Amino acid sequence: MRAMVLDAPGRALVERELPVPVPGPSEVLIRVSACGVCRTDLHVLDGELTEPKLPLVPGHEIVGEVVRVGSAATRHESGERVGVPWLGGTDGTCRFCRKGRENLCEHPTFTGYTHDGGYAEYCTADERYTFPVPDGLDDDPHVAPLLCAGLIGYRTYRMAGDGIERLGIYGFGAAAHIVAQIARHEDVEIYAFTSPGDTDAQGFARSLGAVWAGGSDELPPDLLDAALIFAPVGALIPTALRAIDKGGVVVAGGIHMSDIPSFPYADLWEERVIRSVANLTRADGEQLLALAPTIPIRTEVEVFDLESANEALEHLRSGSLRGAAVLVPDTG
Ligand SMILES: [Zn+2]
Ligand SMILES: [Zn+2]
Repeated sequence: MRAMVLDAPGRALVERELPVPVPGPSEVLIRVSACGVCRTDLHVLDGELTEPKLPLVPGHEIVGEVVRVGSAATRHESGERVGVPWLGGTDGTCRFCRKGRENLCEHPTFTGYTHDGGYAEYCTADERYTFPVPDGLDDDPHVAPLLCAGLIGYRTYRMAGDGIERLGIYGFGAAAHIVAQIARHEDVEIYAFTSPGDTDAQGFARSLGAVWAGGSDELPPDLLDAALIFAPVGALIPTALRAIDKGGVVVAGGIHMSDIPSFPYADLWEERVIRSVANLTRADGEQLLALAPTIPIRTEVEVFDLESANEALEHLRSGSLRGAAVLVPDTG
């Protein structure tokens, strides 16, 4: 099979012919039809996430068809459409798993990081951590971004708490464009913050129902109940704190961020909260995939051939994507 492979951090991916992987007892073999490109992939490529399997096939927003099931796998049948997210497995026994917080598992595996992912024609995945894709959802390239941008975005949004009326979103890329649709569905007002001067992204945010869009160097016209940060820029945390009301929450949705500058305690005073979101639980995935067709969530994607993975990653890095990049193996 063809795959795009990372040999070492700091290098471009190389196209390589690899044997089709053999599923372990609890795994399924999946023919990949689409795999989203996530900012976390950039953090892996750049060595900011320091413990990848090497060589590595990245990619953790996978949609495809089950073509073979492992000897002990019972959840899926051949021909079923499934999605594979970042959380590839947990021990099920650590103090976090026992409390239903498997996103914080002490011994996790991660798709496209500690286990080969979906920048390939085929991949394997532990069937217990894959999701059936509901029939009501779009074609596979449009579903792929839900598997990470959607899932982490959804978890980040839920961490902002209930009763939100005005929601700020810093960084209006793949995650934000999905969260905005969920929040609008719940009658939450969206305030979108982009890089200063990025009028394209601001227009994109308005097209998705944002009542206000501006640069991250601006303050919103009204104080916000919560702010979500999807840009990997630590300086946005004190910025967002100044945009939220008393008792408000700033939630950082990314896995890596530049350092956070110091700020006066007065900006945190009055029960403002800063928190991060780590990974996902399977419950998050089940909830989002059930919710998505009812809204319905429409993802905006730019499709690239599998061989163009490096180009797709550079588009993501430079901020020139509208929505999400998705790789599609050209099987013709
Ligand atoms: Zn665990
Ligand atoms: Zn991701």
